[in-house]
Amino acid sequence: MAIVLKNVSYKHSPYDKEYFLSNVNLEIDDNKICGIIGKSGSGKTTLLEILGGINKPTDGEVLINYVDINKEDYRKNIGIVFQFPEEQFFEIDVKREIEFAAKNYHVKRKKLKEVLKVVGLEDNILTRKLDSLSNGEKRLIAIASVLIYNPKVILFDEPTIGLDYKNKKKIINLIKDLKNRYDKTIIIVSHDIDLLYLMCDDLIILSNGKIILYGDVDSVFNEIDILKKYNIQIPRILKFTNYLKDKKNIRLLPCKTINDLIKEVYRNV
Ligand code: ADP
Repeated sequence: MAIVLKNVSYKHSPYDKEYFLSNVNLEIDDNKICGIIGKSGSGKTTLLEILGGINKPTDGEVLINYVDINKEDYRKNIGIVFQFPEEQFFEIDVKREIEFAAKNYHVKRKKLKEVLKVVGLEDNILTRKLDSLSNGEKRLIAIASVLIYNPKVILFDEPTIGLDYKNKKKIINLIKDLKNRYDKTIIIVSHDIDLLYLMCDDLIILSNGKIILYGDVDSVFNEIDILKKYNIQIPRILKFTNYLKDKKNIRLLPCKTINDLIKEVYRNV
């Protein structure tokens, strides 16, 4: 188990009468991609910030491999890539920006080129000014600045927001690579249900500070009645395959991409 929330309760302010999160118990497995989804105000950011150690639980513990992240030097175990991370750069050029993170976590600078390779950028980008980079490149540099200290768990808040199709695809493939080739545990907060269906192994559905569903993606999206009750959409591909099953009596294997879906339709119709 990579991350465990043990009896976690949280108030935004000590003056709040009630807990926003109340007695949450959760185990997020190692080397998985886990998505967090819910309406605006459901508590996604609050949960992400607790998982990332930015907010400390009012009660309870957050453990990574049995160690309380709020007691030990947890920073090295967790990386957070914020929404629009490129708006939070500290330095002027790429080299200094990544070195800034390296210095903070006492990592040798020679790792710089290694992390650029992981995110698919050439060494010559190191001398570029940050404000001369494209949005996609900026996002990759923000991810490289997290990878430089090699955290075990990486949290992404809306990782593809504001990116065009090509850059969105790049980030999706990179995140999958971080799990499959570099053994990271990934947690993604997103509004984009289609994206989470494509990428995640597991899914947490939040409503009003409560976890209403948690499990592997397919079993979560099987809970049609609960999803309806909380007004959570199901992925468009799944909606279509369910429609074919219910209205046309055509049963397709679960498909994650349009290409898989087209192949399945040709195979069956
Ligand atoms: P989401 O990310 O799902 O939109 P948030 O975690 O940002 O939800 O917010 C959950 C709830 O907590 C909202 O009602 C929000 O207004 C409230 N909230 C968030 N941060 C604070 C804060 N610092 N002080 C008081 N209330 C807050």
